[in-house]
Amino acid sequence: MLKLYNTLTRKKEEFKPIEAGKAGIYTCGPTVYWYAHIGNMRTYLFEDFLKRILRYNGYQVKHVMNLTDVGHLTSDEDTGEDKLEKGARRDNKTVWEVADFYTQAFKRDLNLLNFQEPEVWIKATDTINEQIELIKVMEQKGFVYVISDGVYFDTSKLSSYGKLWPNKKMDIRAGVRVEMAEGKKNPTDFALWKFSPKEGPKRQMEWDSPWGVGFPGWHTECVVMSIKNLGVPFDIHCGGIDHILIHHTNEIAQAEAAYGKDMCNYWMHGDFLILKDDVKMAKSDGTVVLVEDIVNKNMNPLAYRYLVMGVHYRKKMEFSWESLQSAQTGLNNLYEKFLEFKENKKIGVPFGKKAEQHKNKFTEAINDDLNIPQALASAWEVVKDKELSSSEKYYLLLDFDKVFGLGLDKAERKAKEEIPENIKKLLEERQTARQNKDWAKSDEIRKQIQSFGWDVEDTPEGQKAKKL
Ligand code: AMP
Ligand code: ZN
Repeated sequence: MLKLYNTLTRKKEEFKPIEAGKAGIYTCGPTVYWYAHIGNMRTYLFEDFLKRILRYNGYQVKHVMNLTDVGHLTSDEDTGEDKLEKGARRDNKTVWEVADFYTQAFKRDLNLLNFQEPEVWIKATDTINEQIELIKVMEQKGFVYVISDGVYFDTSKLSSYGKLWPNKKMDIRAGVRVEMAEGKKNPTDFALWKFSPKEGPKRQMEWDSPWGVGFPGWHTECVVMSIKNLGVPFDIHCGGIDHILIHHTNEIAQAEAAYGKDMCNYWMHGDFLILKDDVKMAKSDGTVVLVEDIVNKNMNPLAYRYLVMGVHYRKKMEFSWESLQSAQTGLNNLYEKFLEFKENKKIGVPFGKKAEQHKNKFTEAINDDLNIPQALASAWEVVKDKELSSSEKYYLLLDFDKVFGLGLDKAERKAKEEIPENIKKLLEERQTARQNKDWAKSDEIRKQIQSFGWDVEDTPEGQKAKKL
């Protein structure tokens, strides 16, 4: 039995799909005005584990991920600038070029982290007409009013508004001074359609609508893109915890207003990745880490996946380069062990009772609200268990990796590619010696490298290290 923590009911619940054997998931995707950082990736990884666990349990998964290429403003209060328009000015490109560039970069990063690709990618700009239709329905039902800067949802008309909040009475804006558009009736009201500003730079993306030329609100986009592909209600909607108070609350409100139904049955949220001392990753402070930065440090991006696996998705997680280095060592050890079992396995060895117990323990962990840290601990128990044969260990780890996604099946290549830090240092020293034409020193360093079980080859592209 698979249990998931549902933000809506604030408890772990058995997962009961709408259609037997199938699971529909919507995950809020990136706003493609810049690179996704490893904090964003932590949320996407939790969603990837969810998908893999559903598949491990035999469900046929349909995963829809959107690409927000319009309407996500720099402020959650509907007052800031469109992130895409801002990105276009920064990069001196069209908004379409910016969206395309960062979409490709995002997909490349997902690949490096061994994500299972969504079944459906959908862009906000491809559903503008449907968004206008949704706003019309809400207007007919009396939930909408128009003010000078856009079309707004009247949250006071929906008694269930805010049902996703951890504390139902909580008014997120109570006591907080917020910049409110002129004419907005309630602080929680939100924009469904914004009019193109009359002053300032002309927007590159804008569309005609029954209310005026403008662009859709971010919350409306996600309602349309999810329901268009998954129906209403659908099974699971995910995102980071920062989306509970505003973005997801406002998605639910629209689905209820337009369809008179719950938007979906399970809402799942992953906690944040932070830096030491609770510091947020912020581009302006230069504290943002990208997948590319990991690659540039000659580390395996999957070490980041391994690191994320060490903390339950509903707990805050602190990032440091030292912890990533330890994760890299842990992952390499797992690869080494796996290769050892692979070499020693024998065909046709039966799967014993002990192996079954390990598999059950692993399944219990993942089915207990995605307890990946516990599942990873089970994998190490398998490695250490003296009663299991190499074949059993090999097949168990291969099976667990359907959920982990650590690429154990490709471990051989990865293990060989990994050059240890001390060898890298020696290679640099040898490079300097060769530049200084100090051949004796170069030979001496080669011997040192060989004493660590590695060798170096001089190729036209430079030195190449390989295992002896
Ligand atoms: P955004 O592009 O801001 O909508 O973020 C994309 C996803 O990453 C959303 O699901 C956010 O909730 C999530 N997210 C943003 N920052 C972090 C972080 N530091 N740690 C974990 N998830 C994050
Ligand atoms: Zn969304």
